[in-house]
Amino acid sequence: MISMSSTIAECIDEILACHNWSQADLADVLGWGQQALSEIMQGKRRIDASQSLALATVSDHSPEDWLALQTKADIAEAMRSVKTLAELAEIRKRADLEEIAPVRQLIAQKIIPRTKNAAEREKAVTELLADGYVPGTAAKKTDGQPEFNRIQNAWLAIAARRARQMQVAEFDAGKFAMLAQSLPRMVKNVQDIGQVQAWFAAAGVPLIYVPPLPGGKIDGVSFSLETHPAIAITGRGKRFDKIFYTILHEASHIVNGHWLEAVNLRENEECYGGTTKREQEADQLATFWLYPNGIQPPRPLTKQAITQLAANNDVAKDMVIGHLQHIQALPWRTIFAKEIGMLSEEELKAWA
Ligand SMILES: [Zn+2]
Repeated sequence: MISMSSTIAECIDEILACHNWSQADLADVLGWGQQALSEIMQGKRRIDASQSLALATVSDHSPEDWLALQTKADIAEAMRSVKTLAELAEIRKRADLEEIAPVRQLIAQKIIPRTKNAAEREKAVTELLADGYVPGTAAKKTDGQPEFNRIQNAWLAIAARRARQMQVAEFDAGKFAMLAQSLPRMVKNVQDIGQVQAWFAAAGVPLIYVPPLPGGKIDGVSFSLETHPAIAITGRGKRFDKIFYTILHEASHIVNGHWLEAVNLRENEECYGGTTKREQEADQLATFWLYPNGIQPPRPLTKQAITQLAANNDVAKDMVIGHLQHIQALPWRTIFAKEIGMLSEEELKAWA
């Protein structure tokens, strides 16, 4: 192995000294032009793999050694460029920033400007996280759920930023509780659900749709904006029953007063039927709002029985089908699921 402090020129000089050859002699032995050898020695020409094999044949050094010296020279050359050094600093900064927020995704969703400039990116991300500051984000969570990851944090920041911008009435806990409880009687289909944002706003609770960031795995979140609570949903799956249940579940967190504890309650599939006390409370109340008269799976599970169960509770049939699927009384690929309404992207965007 060549000492890495050597250069290609030094190693070629070694060959010349060892054999008492001139440059012209060595060029002739190698079958190269003298000009080419001279340029290699001056660092004006790079050696390639086949040249490394030729040099290895007339020296004690391996082809790998020769190429390693070439690589070392290439890197040293690149490092002399101010442009390269500046680019490396940019890469470092972009990497640091990507640890904090999913920058590329935020750019794709037009949340931050499309720029490669690390300082501009940093400014936009810092502003987003500051605007979207939510009490409890940095606090140590006590509910046993894992911390929000960088994608979820960024999504929550977008949600909080928009929720703060939204004009809502002063928060009225009593009014909101009444509204939430009667919501299953007021929302029977996709058209009705379009009005929920306005109803929540009148009780002082912003309800925002924020498209999911890939990998975020969030259905919704309830959070505190100091003076009032807010809810954001991703609309994942687009199913009416799922989205409406997420809204009711989040509303239930608020009615249960969880937002006052400044713990952000992120929802995903695993959280429903949750194991933590808050999740159990939220599920119980939301389920009670939906099915005050109980929801035992009927036997046999016929279309008529499902319709009857929905009528007993004066609730959308979609919700009953979704619930029966959730408790695995119905399979995911049931024909009944075809009757569940779907929200379009446009309908959801009306809440953006
Ligand atoms: Zn929850």
